[in-house]
Amino acid sequence: MSEKTIGKQPRQLYLLFFTEMWERFSFYGMKALLIAYMVTELKFDEPKSYGILGAYSALVYTVPMLGGMLADRFLGYRRAIIYGGILMTIGHLVLALPQEWSFFSGMAFIICGNGFFKPNISSLVGTLYEENDPRRDSGFSLFYMGINIGAALGGLLCGYVGQQINWHYGFGLAGIFMFLGLIVFAWGQKSLGQRGLAPDKEALQRKTLGIPNEYLIYGGSLIIVPVVVALFNRHEVMDYMMAILGGIAIVYVLWEAFRMERAGRNKLIAALFMIIFSILFWAFYEQNAGSLNLFAMRNVDMNVMGASLPALAVNNFLPPGWVVVLSFFFAWLWTWLAKRNAEPSTPVKFGWSFVLMAAGFLIFYLACQNATAGLINLFAFAMGYMFIIAGELCLSPIGLSMVTKLSPLRMVAVMMGIWFFASAGGEFLAGKIGKLMSVPEAVQNNAVASLPYYATMLKKIAIASAGAGIFILLLSPLVKKWMGDTK
Ligand code: GLN
Repeated sequence: MSEKTIGKQPRQLYLLFFTEMWERFSFYGMKALLIAYMVTELKFDEPKSYGILGAYSALVYTVPMLGGMLADRFLGYRRAIIYGGILMTIGHLVLALPQEWSFFSGMAFIICGNGFFKPNISSLVGTLYEENDPRRDSGFSLFYMGINIGAALGGLLCGYVGQQINWHYGFGLAGIFMFLGLIVFAWGQKSLGQRGLAPDKEALQRKTLGIPNEYLIYGGSLIIVPVVVALFNRHEVMDYMMAILGGIAIVYVLWEAFRMERAGRNKLIAALFMIIFSILFWAFYEQNAGSLNLFAMRNVDMNVMGASLPALAVNNFLPPGWVVVLSFFFAWLWTWLAKRNAEPSTPVKFGWSFVLMAAGFLIFYLACQNATAGLINLFAFAMGYMFIIAGELCLSPIGLSMVTKLSPLRMVAVMMGIWFFASAGGEFLAGKIGKLMSVPEAVQNNAVASLPYYATMLKKIAIASAGAGIFILLLSPLVKKWMGDTK
């Protein structure tokens, strides 16, 4: 390859790194505020708030299937990213308006925009590497670090501004940074050369009913906005929708798999196995954006040396903050192990991710057992997250890379969409698990009384996660065999 590299990575990786960094700043900045905004400002009851958070987060990761498909067939990754970025900016700015109608509509625009943006920027990272390029995994890890630098700053800043100053300023701040991400990408995309361009530009320009197809796609996709608003108002419909879409996704992958020759088929089945388990991972992990936000506000001692730290900012800064710190450790660990020919296979890493997450939730639980006046120690809270995030790093960046490796080229974007759809399933279940941690209004401001509502569930999550981890580790030799020559 005659193209320039920075360090060992293609230089375009840095363009995608910074674009995604600012996009995730806005995404997580806003998400940090959602549950607390609903409970404390909109005065929704807790089960309803968890239901809406679950629906929002599930939809955010459902539409990437559509966005991935539209990019594969018509738009190409780059157009999809730009259009998605525009919609997300609009969504954040709508949320910044202190109007009653703005809440659901703003979230609906963000959902639609994320569908175009999120899967396609990850697929674009995949195009920077030739097949079996050894830099692919570390490239994705670096990209993942960009995601989390953005998420850490977003959680910290928007969490602080939203909780301490004004919720809508917090949402607005998110919008400004999304716009920044968009500018970075629009300005730097030339360096991508032919990558991510529309697969058939003529088809895109061709007119249907006098309107170029490209604009029809943009305009047509906006139908999602009122549909989503309707779904928020009837979020119980989501149960059926998720089950049906989940079924369709699984049947689709199996159908494609069984049309292929043996090696390709087994690879897709291996990918499907790991995608299905990732649902459970996110269901536990995403307590972070739901129940653990309220837990941090109610039951974590935020007093440090006389100062009282803002709970939302802390809870939303810790996970991505740990990702950034631990990414260095894992980058070193994987290379160190690879040199000794001992790097664990992808399914083994997946198994470990659950075991590590179990350790994190166990620490939360033990801290609850040792709480003083209903408040757990902040250090224990931070340490619990450290293990959960170590788990994340054995699954999430590895999963992105795995999808681009195990899927046939023509299906990469759809499979990326399905990978994110598993997050949607997880987020949806996370809302249900969160509901089980609803604290009755009468004791919401009584730390001693609210603590047991969390402690019991935290223990159950730890046990379930350990069980899943052991199960995957036991099956890992088989899954590894399915992966064939793919490392
Ligand atoms: N935190 C990661 C991101 O925002 C992973 C999210 C996910 O796949 N659920 O990209």
